[in-house]
Amino acid sequence: MSLGPARRRSAELERHFRQTPDRFRVMTGDRPTGPLHLGHYFGTLHNRVRLQDLGVDVFVIIADYQVLTDRDMADRLGEYKDGLLLDYLATGIDPARSTVFSHSAVPALNQLLLPFLSLVSIAELGRNPTVKDEIANSRQSTVSGLMYTYPVHQAADILFCKGNVVPVGQDQLPHLETTRTVARRFNERYGAVFPEPDALLSAAPLLLGTDGTKMSKSRGNSVPLGATADETARLIKGAMTDADRHITYDPETRPGVSGLLMLAALCLGRDPHDVAEEIGDGGGAALKRTVTDAVNTFLAPMRARRAEYAQDMPYVRSVLRAGNERADAIAEATLDEVREAMGMSR
Ligand code: ATP
Ligand code: MG
Repeated sequence: MSLGPARRRSAELERHFRQTPDRFRVMTGDRPTGPLHLGHYFGTLHNRVRLQDLGVDVFVIIADYQVLTDRDMADRLGEYKDGLLLDYLATGIDPARSTVFSHSAVPALNQLLLPFLSLVSIAELGRNPTVKDEIANSRQSTVSGLMYTYPVHQAADILFCKGNVVPVGQDQLPHLETTRTVARRFNERYGAVFPEPDALLSAAPLLLGTDGTKMSKSRGNSVPLGATADETARLIKGAMTDADRHITYDPETRPGVSGLLMLAALCLGRDPHDVAEEIGDGGGAALKRTVTDAVNTFLAPMRARRAEYAQDMPYVRSVLRAGNERADAIAEATLDEVREAMGMSR
């Protein structure tokens, strides 16, 4: 999928956020499948916090049902949910201004899936390139119905609160198209109820992991936000590079080296070409030292805040309970509106 139009639209949205933050509602989230990583931070977390701080209403979903898209059972769910909450708070999500909730706690949201599924064809579901990629990387021998339908479930996640901006990584662009299609078709059939939301891409919509492919929680190639400095050093030491000692930034031909350079560049707020030039003929070892220092320095304050919040897990979990309540009330109201529009009101 071409990034050009999404990038242009993202730039246009930036101007509006500043002028009229109250016209926007941000909705985005993560699956509790493991610890959040630098790809999340630079791909979406940073944008969530930035928009919250500009005065935009922000909703963050912990997508627990969607854990089951590519595995039989949701392992260590409690631990991963706690981890997500800690990462959100540590990166600056403020529960007084933003709403954090989980799928399974908001039944009315999930009920939207039924009418929404009637709005898309099986062929459309099968064509989604991200779903195809996730099937290829799935740990299951068969593909479940949930895998094919979860982009429609995501439409329910976004539209239940009438979210109109969705800060996401590049892999989510096809899903956003599904949400837009669902909203448009619903409105055409039943009257104007939903906005057609826009994706908001960050400057790093696809951060690569230590193996040179998309950094992902479940692919064992990520640098977790909450890792210790030593763990971070070890992960980066094991990263894939190549035999050329002269370090250059070339994502096409040198994904491993370039992914590492991009990590350092983002953490240092610099251009990856400049970082490469500075390392010059230093080879993979010097590159990895630079990246490790940059990442650990950048994450240190966040990690300190995370450790502080971890001292008070009852508070951390209360953030989710309060968010669930707010999301539930909004979902009920939207479901009523949907039933009314469809002639199903009681
Ligand atoms: P999993 O491997 O379990 O699918 P994930 O690392 O892909 O985990 P998700 O919970 O699926 O994480 O994605 C949450 C959000 O983070 C999405 O908006 C996604 O686009 C974004 N994101 C995930 N990985 C990256 C990445 N490497 N670069 C940029 N954005 C990313
Ligand atoms: Mg994913």
